[in-house]
Amino acid sequence: MLDIRQNVEGVQAAIERACRRCGRDPREVLLIAVSKTVDLERIRLAVEAGVPALGENRVQEAKEKVATLGHPVPWHLIGSLQTNKARDAARIFDCVQSVDRLELAHELDRRAQAAGRVVDGLLQVNLGEEPQKGGLPPAEVKAVLDQVAALQGLRIRGLMAIPPLVPDAEAARPYFRRLRELRDAVGLEHLSMGMSGDFEVAIDEGATMVRVGTAIFGPRQGPGLGRPPGGSPESGAGVSQR
Ligand SMILES: *Cc1c(COP(=O)(O)O)cnc(C)c1O
Repeated sequence: MLDIRQNVEGVQAAIERACRRCGRDPREVLLIAVSKTVDLERIRLAVEAGVPALGENRVQEAKEKVATLGHPVPWHLIGSLQTNKARDAARIFDCVQSVDRLELAHELDRRAQAAGRVVDGLLQVNLGEEPQKGGLPPAEVKAVLDQVAALQGLRIRGLMAIPPLVPDAEAARPYFRRLRELRDAVGLEHLSMGMSGDFEVAIDEGATMVRVGTAIFGPRQGPGLGRPPGGSPESGAGVSQR
């Protein structure tokens, strides 16, 4: 059987090693366990093993999970959000990482205020300007941020990106660096980047949130996003390294 506790500890150890290598404090990096398609029992095991946050990509699926599990740790939305689901999202999630258009930011703000909540948000950036992917073109980030910075119900805390699929973790580095430069240019705190196959490189480039699914829960049914963990000698989720 898949040992979730061991996987969580392995990923945490890999995060610590990656931080040590580049002189960062591991407490600056939030591990988000991506629990999309994962059943409640295994999510509970991950929470018991100490994951500090959970990530889901569909509002409906998250709604059902939150109804049962509650909020033992914060829930992050990491998948694209239709405007007509903003009401549910503003009630369920502590952070919406996929804010990718002005209209959505305003709707989340309105719905969060109506629910008496303040929701954190990240602006999602389409670094590769890939038409099939969500996210703002890098050139629009500043203008959008200026218009949402003062919202009361949605607080934009940083940037998030899913870089184009590349053959190995090192090849993602220029995208991670670009996101950090953008973040620095607009003066935000958080950088959500890096998944199972490349989170160590992302940490080296300044990630403050890494989104790790496969390396914690094992392979998902159906096509996933990103490279499998352990694809290159430098990367790997640390589940078998010590
Ligand atoms: C599924 C998903 C992840 C996790 O991917 P793994 O390769 O399984 O770690 C991270 N970010 C987003 C946006 C995802 O949809």
